[in-house]
Formats: sequence, C-alpha cells, structure tokens
Amino acid sequence: MNREKESIRSLEPYVTNPTVCSVKLDANEGDKDLYRDLLKKLGESDITLNYYPDDSYSELKKEINNYVGYEPKNITVGNGSSELLDLCVKTFVDKDETILSLDPTFSMYSIYAQVFSAKYIGAKAEEDFKVNVDSIIKDIKENNPKLIILCNPNNPTGSVLTKKEVRKIVKSTDALIALDEAYMEFGDESLIDEVMDYDNLLIVKTVSKAFSLAGIRMGYIVANEDIITSIEKVRAPYNLNSLSAYIATEALRQKERMFDYVKKIKEEREKIYKALVYLGVKAYKSGANFVFFKSDIDNLQKKLVDKDVLIRKFSGKLDGYYRVSVGTKGQNEKFLEAFKEVI
Ligand SMILES: *Cc1c(COP(=O)(O)O)cnc(C)c1O
Repeated sequence: MNREKESIRSLEPYVTNPTVCSVKLDANEGDKDLYRDLLKKLGESDITLNYYPDDSYSELKKEINNYVGYEPKNITVGNGSSELLDLCVKTFVDKDETILSLDPTFSMYSIYAQVFSAKYIGAKAEEDFKVNVDSIIKDIKENNPKLIILCNPNNPTGSVLTKKEVRKIVKSTDALIALDEAYMEFGDESLIDEVMDYDNLLIVKTVSKAFSLAGIRMGYIVANEDIITSIEKVRAPYNLNSLSAYIATEALRQKERMFDYVKKIKEEREKIYKALVYLGVKAYKSGANFVFFKSDIDNLQKKLVDKDVLIRKFSGKLDGYYRVSVGTKGQNEKFLEAFKEVI
C-alpha cells in the first residue's frame, strides 16, 4: 500500500555519488584543512551538550553581522542553506502557486516545490547557458510566480548574472526573490550590500563552499525584518545544532583564512579552465569554485574514477556535460593529468 502523499510519488530520493576516490572533485567542497583546527578548539571549549542551543544564535549572528553587515533581526540561520531554501518554500508558497527558477540550475529547488505541491517553472537559458534577463522577466510576467529562486553564480553552469542584471529582475516584479549566493565569494557580483533596498529580496548564503565547512551544515538568510519574521514563524526551534553554531562562529571570526583560500581557488579555476580549453574541450567561464564542461568521451566519469579522480557527471538534458570542482593545486593537477591520459 502506497501511503505517500500524491505530490511526492513521482520523486526519486536525491542520490549522492558513493564512489570513493582520493581526488574528490564532484561536490564543490572545499579544503579539508582550512578550518580543521577548530575541531580541537571545539573539544577544548566549554560548550554544553546537555542544553539545547541558544535559539537566538546570538554569538553566531554577531559574527555574521561582522561579515555581511546586518543585524540579528535581519538574519535567520539554519541547517545548511538547503534547509533555508526549503523554509522559504514552506513560508511563502501555497499549493498550486508557482515557483520560477532557471534551467538548468540546482536540482533541489524543483524538489522542494514538488513536495509542497507548487508548480515549478525553469526559465530556459540561451545557447551556451547564458541567462537572458529580458526573457526571464518575460517568463515572470507570464507566469506570475509567488517565489523566484535565482542561483548566482549558477550551479552547475558557473554563469554569473551581474548586479545590474539581478537588480533589473528584482525591480521588474513584486514576487519574492530568493537569491542563492552559495558561490558568490568566488564571484564579484554580490547584491548583499543592497538587500535592504528591496522589499522583495532575500539572500541565502552558506559556509559550505568558500569556508570549506559543508560538513557542519550551516547556512543563513539575510533580508528585511518582515521577510525574516515570516520565516521565523516556520523555522523549528534549535534547527542548527550547537556544535555547528560554535564552529561556524569561530570560522567567521577568522574569515581572513577564507579570503586567502578564495583567492587561490580563483587562480586555480582559471588554470583549469585554460587547460581544458587548450585541450580542445568546450569549457564554460565560471564565477564559482567549479568548472562546467562538455565532453564527447564515452564514460568519461568512469574512466577518471579508474584513475582515482571523481568529478560530477550530468544526465538527461545535460547528458555529456560534467562539472569539476576546483580543489587544491595538487588535486587539480591530478585531475588534469588523468584527463589528458583519458583523452
Ligand atoms: C552547495 C549549494 C548550496 C549549499 O547548500 P548547503 O545546504 O548550505 O550545504 C546551496 N545552493 C546551491 C546552488 C549549492 O550548489
């Protein structure tokens, strides 16, 4: 007997690749050593495990404030930005209302939409995955979405909308825009300094990518007080555990390390891009910590796995496309070496 609610019956569980390779470049994760010492600091701290976390997350929000410049009343924290995007849908979208996003983009958005019986529309990118702002605005006008989710830089393509382009979209509509800037530390078009200028904009951020802390699952939303108050109605208490809150707080106190790391990743990203282009591969300029490319080599992912290198392979409409995360210099060299051998 199938007891599932109607809306989820056509869904498949999100599958992460269980393949283990010593060079892991499939999930845009960061450097394992960047904040490794915080584990020790955590062990030596006087953090209490018997008590629930401070549900106002005031220490953490103080450091987020130091980083992005907004008060606690403008911030909600959560168990990764994944939870927060889910919360946005829960908070703002009713059954049969429409969520509009890009196509291609992060696959989780459409899943959250489906779980809440919302309609989901992906605004088609142009050739070479360029996002055409005027055509998005047209799609918005035609479909009257309740929520628009924009991933900038976009995953998986790495393409970047400029601030000017995002402003134009935000101003074109009354619909709420959730701007997912998970990768924006690696790009230069953040709208974070202007988020309070618009009453229909919220920005979702995470420590999973630039801070190399995907394991702790910490993300946050920055928006005006009205938006945050609505989200806070739906957020479960203690949604972020105290260990993660502690580590994120300490990492934000030492954000200089992240800035140095991001600088290196951007240099490495250009090296990978150029090397792929030099090898005749159709690679795409990226504003994130990965490079998206097309290859006609059969079983490319498998062939690289045999050389102990794991990259992300896409299927369906993106069959033949791949995404390689930008890792450490050594990892990237191993990827390029393996890639050369395979071709
Ligand atoms: C990696 C990623 C995130 C971050 O998710 P977390 O739950 O914070 O780890 C958010 N959005 C996109 C598009 C991503 O690729």
